[in-house]
Amino acid sequence: MAEVVLDKVNKQYDNGFHAVKDLSIDIADGEFIVLVGPSGCGKSTALRMIAGLEDISTGTLTIGDRVVNTLSSRERDIAMVFQSYALYPHMSVADNIAYGLKIRRMDKAAIQERVKRAADMLELGPLLDRKPKQLSGGQRQRVAMGRAIVREPQVFLMDEPLSNLDAKLRVQMRAEIAQVQRDLNVTTIYVTHDQTEAMTMGDRVALMKAGVLQQLGAPQHLYDHPDNIFVAGFIGSPPMNMAVGRVGRSGSGVTVGFGGATVQVPESVASERPALASYDGRDVAVGVRSEDMEDASLSRDPGRPRLTTTVSLTEALGSEIVVHFPVEAARVVTEDTRALEEDAGTEDVPATHAGNTWVASFSPRSRVRPGDTVEIAIDPERLHFFDTETGLAIR
Ligand code: ATP
Repeated sequence: MAEVVLDKVNKQYDNGFHAVKDLSIDIADGEFIVLVGPSGCGKSTALRMIAGLEDISTGTLTIGDRVVNTLSSRERDIAMVFQSYALYPHMSVADNIAYGLKIRRMDKAAIQERVKRAADMLELGPLLDRKPKQLSGGQRQRVAMGRAIVREPQVFLMDEPLSNLDAKLRVQMRAEIAQVQRDLNVTTIYVTHDQTEAMTMGDRVALMKAGVLQQLGAPQHLYDHPDNIFVAGFIGSPPMNMAVGRVGRSGSGVTVGFGGATVQVPESVASERPALASYDGRDVAVGVRSEDMEDASLSRDPGRPRLTTTVSLTEALGSEIVVHFPVEAARVVTEDTRALEEDAGTEDVPATHAGNTWVASFSPRSRVRPGDTVEIAIDPERLHFFDTETGLAIR
């Protein structure tokens, strides 16, 4: 069994920088877990500690039934795939794949057998005699995968393995890696800054910020039930729309006013969040996902709460129209939103919307144009609420 357990793992570099703080994760045998977060959040440091390439300052790391803190990389029975494929240019594909087994002095016939099996799995059979420079980026990445697979390790560790590939190939390799992992059923820890890779590949996702684990769970769970504003802004593209709203009461129910509208919070939503009523008379951060809004003129549910606004920009994507519009409510500014905005420069990482511009995903049947005044209907069952001070979800 290759369960991997991190128990309050910390990394403090020699210069005193605390890169990973009390990281605790139980990774099940055969599980595919993705460590994701913005640049500098400590995900690579965490992976390097698991790999044995970096000392663990405090805490315990267990692989299978062994505490491995002081074991070398080699003794940990892991195989790593990096973003630079690190192939030997003068060796053929077959020799590159076999290299790790040769230096372990494995029997020649057994090596051949394993190389053949990996090559079949990765469709590298016809390329085995080529040199790395005669391969495309995707094929090189597959060779790097092959080299890890033939080792038959207890754990695969992957650090941004797709980041050197173009967007289309990334999508294809994403699916291939996930498939190979399912076929082999080897515990896999995969590091990326790309929330789409995290969402599509992982059985579970561990989202980190500034060395601290923010939330751990199934991708859809993080999407639907983010624990804080940072998770809400990082997972999902576009990020969740946010505005400051004011909680009130009507009869026995709870209301929230934002963007010039007062929305009756459905009983089902309020009862799942008993703490919401205690915010009566106070501000909260209200979050709405882009797909939970629609063009009110096309809405089948006339009772839905509406915001009136003027469209600032539309992007027709064929399957949907992405509509940008200002919301008249204070913008949510917390440590979490600042962290997301700081990170906005990073490729593929979403920012919270600048100013108080929201983004909705409309049906392509909508005829809205920039400058139009429109009513936007919101699904009140899908509202999210966060504390404006702590950024934590109100539950
Ligand atoms: P990226 O996606 O940019 O690689 P990351 O989340 O993987 O980011 P890490 O490489 O784990 O981040 O680095 C986490 C933090 O630790 C960063 O602030 C980095 O500058 C710092 N750091 C990394 N290596 C060292 C080191 N050897 N000494 C001091 N600080 C370091």
